[in-house]
Amino acid sequence: MTELTNNGRDYSSVTVKFTKLFINGNFLDSVSGKTFETIDPRTGEVITRISEGTKEDIDIAVKAARHAFDFGPWPRLPPSERAKIMMKWAELIDENTEELAALDAIDAGKLYHMCKAVDIPTASNTLRYYAGAADKIHGEVLKMSGQFHAYTLMEPIGVVGHIIPWNFPTTMFFLKVSPSLAAGCTIILKPAEQTPLSALLYAHLAKLAGVPDGVINVVPGFGPTAGAAISSHMDIDKVSFTGSTEVGREIMEAAAKSNLKQVSLELGGKSPLIIFDDADIDKATDLALLGILFNKGEVCVSSARVFVQEGIYQEFEKKLVDKAKAWVVGDPFDPNSQQGPQVDKNQFEKVLSYIEHGKRQGATLLTGGKTLGNKGYYIQPTIFSNVKEDMLIAQDEIFGPVMALKKFKTIEEAIKSANNTRYGLAAGVVTKNIDTANTMSRSIRAGTIWINCYFAFGDDVPFGGYKMSGFGKDSGLDALYKYLQVKSVVTPVYNSPWL
Ligand code: NAD
Repeated sequence: MTELTNNGRDYSSVTVKFTKLFINGNFLDSVSGKTFETIDPRTGEVITRISEGTKEDIDIAVKAARHAFDFGPWPRLPPSERAKIMMKWAELIDENTEELAALDAIDAGKLYHMCKAVDIPTASNTLRYYAGAADKIHGEVLKMSGQFHAYTLMEPIGVVGHIIPWNFPTTMFFLKVSPSLAAGCTIILKPAEQTPLSALLYAHLAKLAGVPDGVINVVPGFGPTAGAAISSHMDIDKVSFTGSTEVGREIMEAAAKSNLKQVSLELGGKSPLIIFDDADIDKATDLALLGILFNKGEVCVSSARVFVQEGIYQEFEKKLVDKAKAWVVGDPFDPNSQQGPQVDKNQFEKVLSYIEHGKRQGATLLTGGKTLGNKGYYIQPTIFSNVKEDMLIAQDEIFGPVMALKKFKTIEEAIKSANNTRYGLAAGVVTKNIDTANTMSRSIRAGTIWINCYFAFGDDVPFGGYKMSGFGKDSGLDALYKYLQVKSVVTPVYNSPWL
């Protein structure tokens, strides 16, 4: 069985420099003076205390953002100037990659080497992508019937509230902030209470890069207080949320009951990976394992449901289980680790309780199911077979290293099973047959379909859900348009030589 390596190794070289709210260009104590603990999931010990933002602090941050939007330079700068500042910020992020990677690793239990190689460089590139888009925002000229013509202006939507989750503290920060900044908006961002550390350092670097005061405000705090104050605020024009479907519903209700602010929601998932008989079994098992174990299964698009066609099922299952047993769970700073601890005690206990449900409801536990080590929140890679589609482990988002494996016969059955979920975030299909791939990609109701790959993201590729996985895209130019609104300007044209 997988052994825990190097559990709890101290990584003393990362010092937390910023623990206060970042409002109007300054680090401030919260109005209440309250603080909360942020915990190291490797050990369960407190890393540091963070100022706790509540409604009063959100009010102050919104005032700063409103002022910066209504009177400050940011929306009025030539877009190429906004782009230059964003590019500078991206450079500063690259220069601080190791520190930022270490902060996400201690705060979220993410693999340090992965953050350093992927999360942080990808985030600075996201910023560059939208910096490049800032001066390409334009409307249209429209020839109206009759003696009028019209043009459209794409205007920044105003003050934007971003509420983000803990599983990708860096990626989420930049998927939200980059397009809204490029559009000319000003921002209040609430990081998840579990992972506030890197967000505060990003705010500091933004100031160093020349982002004017009030344009970016980062207010750590809890959902029902700081988060709810954002979604119900009368002076925020849009809220962009990534998190659970349950909280997404609350955000939408709060927006409806306050000022009808625009809402976009990136929510949960229970994504299927469908593997057909013609697949290369070695590659397919690697993909399936990565799909569920990457980032300890704390991924909204993890391939939590794997459907394998009957002709290869037996061999697939054996190989998959062998590989899962060899998967290395350990300290996120150990370069050999493939999986770190779950983010916190709540998440740890939630995953374990789903494993118990799976066993109780009669699924077969092929491997895993137990915790590892005597401290921290480590869980073995866990695979269930004989999973019935109405079982909780087949329907609920577990958000942990737990796979539900199932056999299927026909393509029709695979489509039905894939769509048998309230979610619709992503799906994977493994086949060499182009017709099968085309049929599947058009039949599955999900926002992203990966054919013969998984987790393939790109700054220019729109990402977002169908069904109860939400609406509104992050990534691509679609995300930029989320932070713009269209104004039509109409004028008569006299003495035109043509209509
Ligand atoms: P969560 O919904 O509990 O919390 C997300 C954020 O919302 C946090 O910042 C939290 O403080 C805040 N929040 C909580 N209650 C609130 C309220 N009443 N009002 C306003 N804000 C509130 O989710 P989580 O546990 O942090 O993250 C896991 C969830 O996020 C999973 O469901 C996962 O699928 C989803 N997720 C989705 C995507 C995506 O792109 N679709 C990406 C990552 C995570």
